[in-house]
Amino acid sequence: MIQAATGKSPWLLRVHHRLRSLSFAMLFVAAVLHGYDKELGAGVWGFLVLLFLVYPHWQYWRASRSRDAIQAELQSLLFDSLLLGMAAAALHFSLWISFSAAVGTLVNNAANKGWRGVLQTIPACALGALAWVALFGLHFSPHTGAVATAFCMAALTMYLLIMNNIGFVRNQQLRRVRHQLQEREAALLEVNTRLLGNLREIDGLQNQLREQANRDPLTGLYNRRYLSSTLERELSRCKREGQVLSLWLIDIDHFKAINDVHGHQVGDAVLVQLARMLAAFARAEDVVCRFGGEEFLITMPTMPLQAAIERAEQLRSQVAQSPFVSGALDLKISISIGVSVYPMHGLLVDGLIGAADSALYRAKAAGRNQVFSAVSM
Ligand code: GH3
Ligand code: MG
Ligand code: MG
Repeated sequence: MIQAATGKSPWLLRVHHRLRSLSFAMLFVAAVLHGYDKELGAGVWGFLVLLFLVYPHWQYWRASRSRDAIQAELQSLLFDSLLLGMAAAALHFSLWISFSAAVGTLVNNAANKGWRGVLQTIPACALGALAWVALFGLHFSPHTGAVATAFCMAALTMYLLIMNNIGFVRNQQLRRVRHQLQEREAALLEVNTRLLGNLREIDGLQNQLREQANRDPLTGLYNRRYLSSTLERELSRCKREGQVLSLWLIDIDHFKAINDVHGHQVGDAVLVQLARMLAAFARAEDVVCRFGGEEFLITMPTMPLQAAIERAEQLRSQVAQSPFVSGALDLKISISIGVSVYPMHGLLVDGLIGAADSALYRAKAAGRNQVFSAVSM
């Protein structure tokens, strides 16, 4: 882990610095209590002062300046073990100081590296002690005076309690952070659900808008705009599949008179009723649309001319016999129908509609209430 750019040392480094300074200072006190009346020599005291009072601060300074402070600190834990092994040998293997130093460094390594730390600590301590013995000879007198022993017991207990407390505080912090994360996750999930709901609503509204843009508001049938886009596609499909398509242009006879005599509202009701009849009459694959004021257009894929004329005749007769605006008026109306068929009467949309329109014109001219087919090209 790279040191944070805030200028502040990482948490682990600061805690270890405090812990090392305190525990090494206590070991120094224990060494003084144990060795003040022994002939240890100035060199040994110099080593102990450097190790117990200077080394912890040097180590902190070194780790906090390195590129990866945490890694440097974890490495220095093993160096601690090595130096404490040397100190134990320098103090003639005083039982309680050696024991306290060994337990301290063992626990610290275990807390930071697990069992791997334990396995590394033991040989590191042994190596330090061996090095000292190799350099300065073996002096072995493990007996530790009562005062130094009592101090070591108290210091070791305190050290272990402090270590335990650090773990406890860290655990609590982690639990708090985990709780906050869970709360944030729940909040995010809620926002996400709400967003999904909104998206679905927008999707629905878009579909509704698209549908509305394609529909005639009065009759609910498709409008001319929709027809233009569909008919092009339908004709291409017929061309590809070698199919025929019949197109009917339907116009209400003398519709203006209905408006004039019964009013515009009745005219509207007639348009709506006829639209329903056309929709019911058409097959699932047919497209029925309101083409203009009182004109309607139906496309019937796969229907050849003869069948189209017969079916249109059925529709004409059905309309002529049905009462319109039932109950209130029981109006009778009639329609004229012009039929054209692809590819017989035209290959393009405009040509086909034009052919059906001419046929419709002729039906009107022939007295209305009639079905006329287009003239072949
Ligand atoms: P023809 O037999 O020759 O078709 O005669 P027509 O009276 O039906 O034809 P014309 O084109 O003269 O009149 C069509 C009328 O349709 C005129 C217009 O006021 C009426 N119209 C168009 N759209 C609507 C509508 O949405 N509602 C109502 N009530 N009338 C409409
Ligand atoms: Mg008309
Ligand atoms: Mg008309």
